[in-house]
Amino acid sequence: MSDNFRYCPKCGAAALKPDSAKSVFCSACGFVYYFNVAAAVAGLIVNEKNELLVAVRGREPGKGMWDLPGGFVDAGESAEDALRREIKEELNLDVESLEYIASFPNTYHYKNVTYPTCDLAYICHVSDFSTLTARSDIETALFVAPESIDTSKFAFDSIRQFVKLFIQTKS
Ligand SMILES: [Zn+2]
Repeated sequence: MSDNFRYCPKCGAAALKPDSAKSVFCSACGFVYYFNVAAAVAGLIVNEKNELLVAVRGREPGKGMWDLPGGFVDAGESAEDALRREIKEELNLDVESLEYIASFPNTYHYKNVTYPTCDLAYICHVSDFSTLTARSDIETALFVAPESIDTSKFAFDSIRQFVKLFIQTKS
């Protein structure tokens, strides 16, 4: 991570030095930058036939691969609110209630920088699918029966783990 940064974001000096495994410091102004993980959320949504809603990614990273709806948590936002917002933005669906399942670490490669994330998964209860529209960074939404899910089609390790947990509970 420290290889990605050469200039201090506070004073602009080319004086960043390793501080610890988790941080760099600027020897010119004393600024310390911590490589914090970003929080991200993912939703497991099933229809009345117990089929899982799979989102096909419309953008890199992982364009064309499978994903679960979700995304990064904004500053000042709860994980639950972030997931409700993402599901509305990506699928135009309203989540009635959420149940936390598990979290897994993940890495997100974007424009040649790898960001560490902590991904939290929730079962999301949706009763009205009539408004379902794939939009934002989602190309298509599919409903896939648990026995037909190929976890190798998912773009991210953490999402694969969440889906494996989901399949276990359904078999
Ligand atoms: Zn500085």
